[in-house]
Amino acid sequence: MDLLLKQVRINAEEGLKDIAVKNGKIVAIEDHISEDASRIVEGEGRVLIPGLIESHIHLDKALIADRKQNKSGTLKEALAVTASLKPTFTEEDIYERATRALRTMILPNGVTHMRAHAEFDPAQGFTGFDVMLRIREEYKDVIDIQIVAFPQEGIFKAPGTDKMMVEAMEKGADLLGAVPYNDLDANDHIDFVFDLAQKYDVDIDLHQDFADDADKISIEYLAKKTIETGWQGRVSVGHLTAIAALPPEELDPVLKLMAEANISVMALPATDLHMGARNDTYNVRRALTPVRKLRDAGVNVCIATNNIRNAFTPYGNGDIFQTAMLAIPVAHLGGGDDLHTVLPMITTNPARALGLKDYGIEVGKSADMVLLDTTSFTNAIIDLPTKLFVWKHGNLTVENTRETVLHF
Ligand SMILES: [Zn+2]
Repeated sequence: MDLLLKQVRINAEEGLKDIAVKNGKIVAIEDHISEDASRIVEGEGRVLIPGLIESHIHLDKALIADRKQNKSGTLKEALAVTASLKPTFTEEDIYERATRALRTMILPNGVTHMRAHAEFDPAQGFTGFDVMLRIREEYKDVIDIQIVAFPQEGIFKAPGTDKMMVEAMEKGADLLGAVPYNDLDANDHIDFVFDLAQKYDVDIDLHQDFADDADKISIEYLAKKTIETGWQGRVSVGHLTAIAALPPEELDPVLKLMAEANISVMALPATDLHMGARNDTYNVRRALTPVRKLRDAGVNVCIATNNIRNAFTPYGNGDIFQTAMLAIPVAHLGGGDDLHTVLPMITTNPARALGLKDYGIEVGKSADMVLLDTTSFTNAIIDLPTKLFVWKHGNLTVENTRETVLHF
C-alpha cells in the first residue's frame, strides 16, 4: 500500500473505517486493515470526504475589485465595469491573477476538481481563454479543470463570436458555455449552442435567468430543447435566480420539466446575494434560486463560488465551505432534514453535473480525498474545519498542519 488512513468517518451512518490507497486508487475500505503502507495517517475519528468541487468559477476575471468599483452593485454595472477593464488585461496579468485565485482554492481549501468559465469576445480575442488552457495543463497533477467556452458578451450581440465559439472548441475547450439573458434573443442563443454541442458531442453549461423577476425566463425552452435533443444529464445552469419569483403553481411545472431534462443547477449565493434585489427598497428578496424546491423536485443542485473579488462579487477567499455556509441560512438549509444535503452540493452532486466517473470514497475510484479536522459528518460544513490533508490521485498535495498554541 502507498497510503493507509486509519479510522476515518466516511458517512453519517457507518462506523469508522480504514482506507487503503495504491497507485492513486482507493483499493480497500474496511473496518480494520492490518497491512503495512508507505505512509500511515491516523484519522482518530475525523471525517474523510471526496475532493471538493468548485463547479462554477471565473478565474480570468478574479481579483480585480480594487481596480474599478461597481457602485450600484447591479449586474448591469458589473458587466459594464468588467467590460471597461478587459482591454487593460494582459496575458501576464490574467495568468498572475487566475493562478493566485486557483492556488487559494487548492491550498488551503482542498478543491480537487473545477469547472472554469473562460471568456472571449471579438474585441479581446482569446487572450484570457488561452491562459486558462495553459493553466489547465500546468496544474493537472493537483486539480482537474474543465474549461467552458464562455461568450460573456453574447453571441449575436457581439458579431464574430459565433465563429469564436467554434474556434474555442478546436482550441480544446471541454464544453460549451452560454448566457442567453445577455443576447438579442435568448432562444436563438440556446439553439446556436445546442447545434454546436451536438456537432462536438459536448456538455453545455449556461448562465441562466439571472434576474430578480421571472418575466423573461428561458429555462422552460432550455429544458424542452434538452429533452428534444436527447441532452438529458448533459446540461447545467448557473444562477437561475429568476424562477424564485414564480408562484408555486407556475414554478412546479418548471421544476418538473427540469427534473425530466435532468438539468443540474449551480446556485451561486456569493454573487446572487450581492447583486440581487438591488431595486427592492424594503422587504428585500433573497435573490437566490429556490434550492430546497429544486432539490425536493429531484433536480441535481450544486453550490459554487462564481467569482472572487470583482465587480460581480467583491469578496471571497477561495473557500467553497464558506460559500456553502452562506447558502445554509439564505436557502433555509440549516434544519435537521436539510443540513446533511449540503455537503453533497459541493462534492457528489457537482461530480454528477460535471460527469466525473472516477469520483467518490469508493473502492476503485481515484484517491482524491480531504481529511477534515472534525469528527462529525453531519456538522462537516458548519464546523468550518481545517482541511488537514488533501490527496489528488493518491498523492499528498496539501498539508495544513500549522500549530495554534493557547497560552492560558
Ligand atoms: Zn458565472
